[in-house]
Amino acid sequence: MFQAFLIKYGEIGIKGKNRYLFEDALVHQIKLALQPVEGNFVISTERGRVYVEAKGAFDYDDAVLALSRVFGIIAICPMWQVELTDYPHIEQAVIDYMDEVYPDKNKSFKVFTKRADKEFPMNSQEINVALGDAILDAYPEMHVDVHNPEISLNVELRTKLNIYSESIPGPGGMPVGTAGKAMLLLSGGIDSPVAGYMIAKRGVVIEAVYFHAPPYTSERAKQKVIDLAKIVARYSGPIRLHIVNFTDIQLYIYDCCPHDELTIIMRRYMMRIAEHFAKQDACLGLITGESIGQVASQTMKSLAATNEVCTMPVYRPLIAFDKNDIVSIAERIDTFETSILPYEDCCTIFVAKHPVTKPNVGAIKRSEKKLDEKIDEMVETAVSTAEILEIEADRLV
Ligand code: ATP
Ligand code: MG
Repeated sequence: MFQAFLIKYGEIGIKGKNRYLFEDALVHQIKLALQPVEGNFVISTERGRVYVEAKGAFDYDDAVLALSRVFGIIAICPMWQVELTDYPHIEQAVIDYMDEVYPDKNKSFKVFTKRADKEFPMNSQEINVALGDAILDAYPEMHVDVHNPEISLNVELRTKLNIYSESIPGPGGMPVGTAGKAMLLLSGGIDSPVAGYMIAKRGVVIEAVYFHAPPYTSERAKQKVIDLAKIVARYSGPIRLHIVNFTDIQLYIYDCCPHDELTIIMRRYMMRIAEHFAKQDACLGLITGESIGQVASQTMKSLAATNEVCTMPVYRPLIAFDKNDIVSIAERIDTFETSILPYEDCCTIFVAKHPVTKPNVGAIKRSEKKLDEKIDEMVETAVSTAEILEIEADRLV
């Protein structure tokens, strides 16, 4: 029924040169998103507009699903796009459109004409009136409602004639690739995939790092993180995932440091290693799924102690979110079911019964001194043996 889409995006704050950067990134992301969709698509821009046109047969539902995941898109309007000639042709196209798109004619409508082509012999208001009359003549069950129409029929005279009336919401945000790159600390939990999604939504390309502790953590726990990265990649685009073997470092900390400080010290090493990869890959910040007070390692004092080792900004988009709100997002973006699979993660295996909730940075640093002998070498080994995977979204679901 539809061969084309009008893609609407938010224009606030994106004027001049920035608009082209924004549009180019949006077009690029749309192309990537449509790659797995059956069909042949041509994407074009026209004065603040992006159009997607299908050449020949295509999978409409998959195309809409793919587009609804592209950050930067506010709305997706399935559209008829035909040659713009004279008024009788416009009228015929509109009559055909209403018939095909609305088999049930018992509906109210209002026509909104926009005329970019000021040469056209009728003005917008004249076209509105003429088309309104023509629709009423063709379909007497329809009626006009200028205040609250069920069908807002847009008729645009631009390079071509655009007709559309339906609008499917997009995710909003900014196209990925407009805001640099950041490194996500991705665990198998509920929070970090959501944190990655939220930062990617602001236009940031994300990479990820996962720390595992074989044989204490299983292959399945690792596969779960890969699966989560695949789901986040549906929105963010491909994610370069670094998988770090953290076992020796964890055991060494366990042997040398007070057990109530284990989690904090371990988290400080995670941040240091994540930052190493971040710098190597030109990332501008780190991302975590932390939220104030959620667990002992996320009190403000614990966050301060963890943060103290970082020289890059650490973005914590969930910092003020309640768990319920995080869960709602996880459900909406489809990471929740995977996140709650009950595989052990490396934080829970070495966890102390009574972890410090108000760590003192001085004391933590003194404890870390006890690691001096081997820790640098261990960090180097962990970094150099990391497995690097390029994770792509696997399918349209
Ligand atoms: P999540 O649900 O994201 O796992 P959490 O509530 O389990 O979070 P913590 O275990 O304290 O909280 O982890 C806090 C943050 O540290 C996570 O959101 C994540 O960004 C990072 N993190 C924790 N464990 C790992 C890991 N094994 N690999 C990579 N990052 C991790
Ligand atoms: Mg966790």
